[in-house]
Amino acid sequence: RTVYLNGDYLPEEDAKISIFDRSFLMADGVYEVTSVLGGKLIDFAGHSKRLERSLSELEMQKPDAFDDLLEIHRELVRLNDIDEGMIYLQVSRGSAGDRDFTYPSADVKPTLVLFTQSKPNLADNPVAKIGIKVISIEDQRWGRRDIKTVQLLYPSMGKMMAKAAGCDDAWMVEDGAVTEGTSNNAYIVKGNTIITRHLGTEILHGITRAAVLRFALEAQMKVEERPFTIQEAQDADEAFITSASTFVMPVVEIDGAAIGTGNPGPVAARLREIYLEESRNAAL
Ligand code: PLP
Repeated sequence: RTVYLNGDYLPEEDAKISIFDRSFLMADGVYEVTSVLGGKLIDFAGHSKRLERSLSELEMQKPDAFDDLLEIHRELVRLNDIDEGMIYLQVSRGSAGDRDFTYPSADVKPTLVLFTQSKPNLADNPVAKIGIKVISIEDQRWGRRDIKTVQLLYPSMGKMMAKAAGCDDAWMVEDGAVTEGTSNNAYIVKGNTIITRHLGTEILHGITRAAVLRFALEAQMKVEERPFTIQEAQDADEAFITSASTFVMPVVEIDGAAIGTGNPGPVAARLREIYLEESRNAAL
Protein backbone atom coordinates (compact mmCIF):
# COMPACT_ATOMS: atom_id res chain seq x y z
CA ARG A 1 0.00 0.00 0.00
CA THR A 2 1.20 3.50 -0.82
CA VAL A 3 0.62 6.11 1.88
CA TYR A 4 1.19 9.85 2.11
CA LEU A 5 3.47 11.48 4.69
CA ASN A 6 4.37 15.18 4.73
CA GLY A 7 4.58 15.68 0.98
CA ASP A 8 5.75 12.20 -0.05
CA TYR A 9 3.98 9.14 -1.43
CA LEU A 10 5.73 6.14 0.15
CA PRO A 11 5.37 2.39 0.66
CA GLU A 12 3.68 2.07 4.08
CA GLU A 13 6.74 0.40 5.63
CA ASP A 14 8.88 3.43 4.76
CA ALA A 15 6.53 6.02 6.28
CA LYS A 16 7.97 6.88 9.69
CA ILE A 17 7.35 9.67 12.18
CA SER A 18 9.16 10.77 15.36
CA ILE A 19 8.52 9.10 18.72
CA PHE A 20 8.18 12.70 20.00
CA ASP A 21 5.26 13.42 17.68
CA ARG A 22 2.53 14.99 19.82
CA SER A 23 -0.18 12.75 18.40
CA PHE A 24 1.77 9.81 19.86
CA LEU A 25 2.62 11.40 23.23
CA MET A 26 -0.46 13.61 23.85
CA ALA A 27 -3.16 12.45 21.41
CA ASP A 28 -2.62 15.95 20.01
CA GLY A 29 -4.00 15.25 16.58
CA VAL A 30 -7.19 15.49 14.54
CA TYR A 31 -8.46 13.28 11.77
CA GLU A 32 -11.04 12.72 9.05
CA VAL A 33 -12.35 9.62 7.33
CA THR A 34 -13.74 10.08 3.83
CA SER A 35 -15.42 7.25 1.99
CA VAL A 36 -14.76 6.29 -1.62
CA LEU A 37 -17.45 4.91 -3.93
CA GLY A 38 -16.74 4.07 -7.55
CA GLY A 39 -13.25 5.52 -7.08
CA LYS A 40 -14.69 8.92 -6.09
CA LEU A 41 -14.74 10.86 -2.83
CA ILE A 42 -17.97 11.23 -0.87
CA ASP A 43 -18.64 14.60 0.79
CA PHE A 44 -15.04 15.78 0.43
CA ALA A 45 -15.98 19.44 0.94
CA GLY A 46 -17.72 18.68 4.25
CA HIS A 47 -14.77 16.72 5.63
CA SER A 48 -12.32 19.39 4.54
CA LYS A 49 -14.40 22.11 6.24
CA ARG A 50 -14.68 20.13 9.47
CA LEU A 51 -10.92 19.47 9.44
CA GLU A 52 -10.33 23.20 9.12
CA ARG A 53 -12.62 23.80 12.10
CA SER A 54 -10.95 21.09 14.25
CA LEU A 55 -7.54 22.64 13.53
CA SER A 56 -8.77 26.11 14.33
CA GLU A 57 -10.47 25.07 17.62
CA LEU A 58 -7.15 23.56 18.76
CA GLU A 59 -5.03 26.45 17.43
CA MET A 60 -3.17 23.94 15.33
CA GLN A 61 -1.43 25.09 12.12
CA LYS A 62 -2.87 24.05 8.80
CA PRO A 63 -0.47 21.73 6.97
CA ASP A 64 1.23 23.46 4.01
CA ALA A 65 -0.55 20.99 1.73
CA PHE A 66 -4.03 21.91 3.02
CA ASP A 67 -5.12 23.37 -0.33
CA ASP A 68 -3.88 20.24 -2.15
CA LEU A 69 -5.85 17.76 -0.04
CA LEU A 70 -8.36 16.89 -2.75
CA GLU A 71 -5.50 16.15 -5.15
CA ILE A 72 -3.69 14.04 -2.51
CA HIS A 73 -6.86 12.03 -1.76
CA ARG A 74 -7.36 11.40 -5.49
CA GLU A 75 -3.74 10.42 -6.03
CA LEU A 76 -3.93 7.85 -3.19
CA VAL A 77 -7.15 6.43 -4.65
CA ARG A 78 -5.36 6.09 -7.98
CA LEU A 79 -2.09 4.67 -6.62
CA ASN A 80 -3.89 2.07 -4.50
CA ASP A 81 -6.59 1.38 -7.08
CA ILE A 82 -9.43 1.94 -4.60
CA ASP A 83 -12.93 1.38 -5.93
CA GLU A 84 -14.77 1.25 -2.58
CA GLY A 85 -13.22 2.07 0.77
CA MET A 86 -12.01 4.87 2.94
CA ILE A 87 -9.27 7.43 3.14
CA TYR A 88 -7.94 8.22 6.60
CA LEU A 89 -6.31 11.60 7.15
CA GLN A 90 -4.54 12.75 10.31
CA VAL A 91 -2.91 16.02 11.23
CA SER A 92 -0.88 16.20 14.42
CA ARG A 93 0.80 19.17 16.01
CA GLY A 94 4.11 17.58 15.07
CA SER A 95 7.28 17.06 17.00
CA ALA A 96 9.45 19.55 18.88
CA GLY A 97 11.97 16.77 19.61
CA ASP A 98 11.04 16.45 23.28
CA ARG A 99 8.06 15.93 25.58
CA ASP A 100 6.45 19.17 26.68
CA PHE A 101 2.89 20.04 27.68
CA THR A 102 3.01 23.46 26.05
CA TYR A 103 2.54 23.71 22.31
CA PRO A 104 5.73 23.93 20.23
CA SER A 105 6.64 27.19 18.47
CA ALA A 106 5.19 28.09 15.09
CA ASP A 107 8.23 26.84 13.17
CA VAL A 108 7.36 23.24 14.15
CA LYS A 109 5.37 21.92 11.22
CA PRO A 110 2.30 19.74 11.70
CA THR A 111 2.54 16.09 10.63
CA LEU A 112 0.17 15.14 7.80
CA VAL A 113 -0.58 11.47 7.14
CA LEU A 114 -3.07 9.87 4.77
CA PHE A 115 -3.69 6.23 3.95
CA THR A 116 -6.35 4.22 2.15
CA GLN A 117 -8.42 1.24 3.27
CA SER A 118 -10.04 -0.87 0.58
CA LYS A 119 -13.52 -2.10 1.61
CA PRO A 120 -15.34 -3.92 -1.15
CA ASN A 121 -19.09 -4.01 -0.43
CA LEU A 122 -19.07 -0.74 1.47
CA ALA A 123 -22.24 0.35 -0.33
CA ASP A 124 -23.63 -3.15 -0.74
CA ASN A 125 -22.93 -4.00 2.93
CA PRO A 126 -24.88 -7.15 3.89
CA VAL A 127 -25.14 -5.88 7.50
CA ALA A 128 -27.47 -3.10 6.30
CA LYS A 129 -30.06 -5.80 5.54
CA ILE A 130 -30.01 -7.28 9.06
CA GLY A 131 -29.11 -4.25 11.15
CA ILE A 132 -26.86 -3.96 14.20
CA LYS A 133 -27.36 -4.44 17.94
CA VAL A 134 -26.18 -1.86 20.43
CA ILE A 135 -25.70 -1.61 24.18
CA SER A 136 -25.82 1.63 26.17
CA ILE A 137 -22.86 2.82 28.21
CA GLU A 138 -22.10 5.97 30.14
CA ASP A 139 -20.42 8.68 28.05
CA GLN A 140 -17.07 9.20 29.74
CA ARG A 141 -15.30 11.11 26.97
CA TRP A 142 -13.91 14.64 27.30
CA GLY A 143 -16.14 17.70 26.83
CA ARG A 144 -15.16 18.80 23.30
CA ARG A 145 -16.53 15.95 21.22
CA ASP A 146 -17.28 18.41 18.41
CA ILE A 147 -13.53 18.40 17.68
CA LYS A 148 -12.52 15.26 15.81
CA THR A 149 -9.41 14.35 17.84
CA VAL A 150 -7.53 11.05 17.83
CA GLN A 151 -8.37 10.49 21.54
CA LEU A 152 -10.30 7.32 20.76
CA LEU A 153 -9.55 5.17 23.77
CA TYR A 154 -12.98 5.44 25.39
CA PRO A 155 -14.85 4.76 22.11
CA SER A 156 -12.49 1.83 21.63
CA MET A 157 -13.34 0.53 25.13
CA GLY A 158 -17.04 0.99 24.29
CA LYS A 159 -16.68 -1.18 21.19
CA MET A 160 -14.98 -3.87 23.28
CA MET A 161 -17.81 -3.73 25.86
CA ALA A 162 -20.33 -4.10 23.03
CA LYS A 163 -18.41 -7.05 21.60
CA ALA A 164 -18.23 -8.72 25.02
CA ALA A 165 -22.03 -8.38 25.23
CA GLY A 166 -22.47 -10.00 21.80
CA CYS A 167 -23.38 -6.65 20.18
CA ASP A 168 -21.96 -4.44 17.45
CA ASP A 169 -21.67 -1.01 19.01
CA ALA A 170 -22.41 1.14 22.06
CA TRP A 171 -24.61 4.22 22.34
CA MET A 172 -23.25 6.60 24.93
CA VAL A 173 -25.52 8.23 27.49
CA GLU A 174 -25.00 11.44 29.42
CA ASP A 175 -27.44 12.93 31.95
CA GLY A 176 -29.99 10.32 30.88
CA ALA A 177 -29.87 11.13 27.14
CA VAL A 178 -28.08 9.47 24.23
CA THR A 179 -25.16 11.50 22.89
CA GLU A 180 -24.00 9.31 19.97
CA GLY A 181 -22.47 5.95 19.03
CA THR A 182 -18.76 5.16 19.50
CA SER A 183 -18.02 6.28 15.93
CA ASN A 184 -21.37 7.42 14.55
CA ASN A 185 -24.40 9.61 15.16
CA ALA A 186 -27.56 8.03 16.65
CA TYR A 187 -31.19 8.37 15.53
CA ILE A 188 -34.63 7.07 16.35
CA VAL A 189 -37.76 7.16 14.19
CA LYS A 190 -41.34 7.66 15.40
CA GLY A 191 -43.90 7.58 12.61
CA ASN A 192 -42.68 10.07 10.02
CA THR A 193 -40.34 11.86 12.45
CA ILE A 194 -36.59 11.39 12.74
CA ILE A 195 -35.15 12.30 16.12
CA THR A 196 -31.44 12.89 16.69
CA ARG A 197 -29.50 14.84 19.27
CA HIS A 198 -28.99 18.56 18.55
CA LEU A 199 -25.50 19.81 17.68
CA GLY A 200 -23.27 21.11 20.46
CA THR A 201 -19.98 20.26 22.13
CA GLU A 202 -21.43 16.91 23.32
CA ILE A 203 -21.30 15.21 19.89
CA LEU A 204 -19.31 15.18 16.69
CA HIS A 205 -21.05 17.13 13.94
CA GLY A 206 -21.29 14.27 11.50
CA ILE A 207 -20.86 15.07 7.83
CA THR A 208 -23.17 12.16 7.02
CA ARG A 209 -25.66 13.47 9.63
CA ALA A 210 -25.88 16.85 7.87
CA ALA A 211 -26.50 15.21 4.49
CA VAL A 212 -29.02 12.66 5.79
CA LEU A 213 -31.08 15.29 7.64
CA ARG A 214 -31.17 17.40 4.49
CA PHE A 215 -32.35 14.43 2.41
CA ALA A 216 -34.94 13.54 5.06
CA LEU A 217 -36.46 17.03 4.89
CA GLU A 218 -36.42 16.94 1.09
CA ALA A 219 -38.29 13.60 1.27
CA GLN A 220 -41.03 15.28 3.41
CA MET A 221 -39.97 13.54 6.62
CA LYS A 222 -39.97 15.50 9.87
CA VAL A 223 -36.75 16.09 11.79
CA GLU A 224 -36.48 16.84 15.51
CA GLU A 225 -33.01 17.70 16.80
CA ARG A 226 -33.23 17.03 20.55
CA PRO A 227 -31.96 14.65 23.24
CA PHE A 228 -33.70 11.28 23.58
CA THR A 229 -33.45 8.51 26.18
CA ILE A 230 -32.68 4.80 25.84
CA GLN A 231 -36.28 4.08 26.94
CA GLU A 232 -37.58 6.27 24.12
CA ALA A 233 -35.29 4.49 21.68
CA GLN A 234 -36.51 1.07 22.82
CA ASP A 235 -40.10 2.26 22.29
CA ALA A 236 -39.35 3.78 18.85
CA ASP A 237 -40.50 2.38 15.49
CA GLU A 238 -36.94 2.33 14.16
CA ALA A 239 -33.40 3.32 15.03
CA PHE A 240 -30.27 3.83 12.96
CA ILE A 241 -26.78 5.32 12.91
CA THR A 242 -24.88 7.35 10.35
CA SER A 243 -21.17 7.78 9.59
CA ALA A 244 -18.88 8.12 6.61
CA SER A 245 -18.03 4.42 6.77
CA THR A 246 -21.51 2.97 7.45
CA PHE A 247 -23.66 5.59 5.65
CA VAL A 248 -27.11 4.83 7.12
CA MET A 249 -27.14 1.61 9.17
CA PRO A 250 -30.27 0.24 10.90
CA VAL A 251 -30.18 -0.55 14.64
CA VAL A 252 -32.52 -3.40 15.55
CA GLU A 253 -31.82 -3.95 19.24
CA ILE A 254 -30.83 -1.76 22.21
CA ASP A 255 -29.81 -3.32 25.53
CA GLY A 256 -31.52 -6.56 24.53
CA ALA A 257 -34.86 -4.94 23.57
CA ALA A 258 -35.96 -5.25 19.94
CA ILE A 259 -36.73 -1.95 18.17
CA GLY A 260 -40.08 -2.05 16.34
CA THR A 261 -40.34 -5.39 14.56
CA GLY A 262 -36.70 -6.23 15.37
CA ASN A 263 -35.87 -5.89 11.68
CA PRO A 264 -34.46 -2.92 9.72
CA GLY A 265 -37.22 -0.40 9.14
CA PRO A 266 -38.40 1.31 5.94
CA VAL A 267 -37.26 4.82 6.90
CA ALA A 268 -33.64 3.76 7.48
CA ALA A 269 -33.68 1.70 4.28
CA ARG A 270 -35.05 4.60 2.26
CA LEU A 271 -32.57 7.09 3.72
CA ARG A 272 -29.69 4.73 2.99
CA GLU A 273 -30.83 4.43 -0.61
CA ILE A 274 -31.26 8.19 -1.05
CA TYR A 275 -27.93 8.91 0.66
CA LEU A 276 -26.01 6.48 -1.55
CA GLU A 277 -27.62 7.73 -4.74
CA GLU A 278 -27.23 11.45 -3.99
CA SER A 279 -23.67 11.01 -2.71
CA ARG A 280 -22.55 9.05 -5.73
CA ASN A 281 -24.00 11.76 -7.97
CA ALA A 282 -22.11 14.48 -6.08
CA ALA A 283 -18.86 12.50 -5.57
CA LEU A 284 -15.58 14.14 -6.61
N1 PLP B 1 -19.67 10.61 16.00
C1 PLP B 1 -18.45 10.12 16.27
C2 PLP B 1 -18.00 10.04 17.70
C3 PLP B 1 -17.61 9.71 15.23
O1 PLP B 1 -16.38 9.22 15.50
C4 PLP B 1 -18.08 9.78 13.89
C5 PLP B 1 -17.25 9.36 12.75
O2 PLP B 1 -16.17 8.88 12.85
C6 PLP B 1 -19.37 10.27 13.66
C7 PLP B 1 -20.13 10.69 14.74
C8 PLP B 1 -19.93 10.37 12.27
O3 PLP B 1 -19.34 11.42 11.56
P1 PLP B 1 -19.23 11.37 9.97
O4 PLP B 1 -20.63 11.23 9.46
O5 PLP B 1 -18.66 12.69 9.62
O6 PLP B 1 -18.37 10.22 9.63
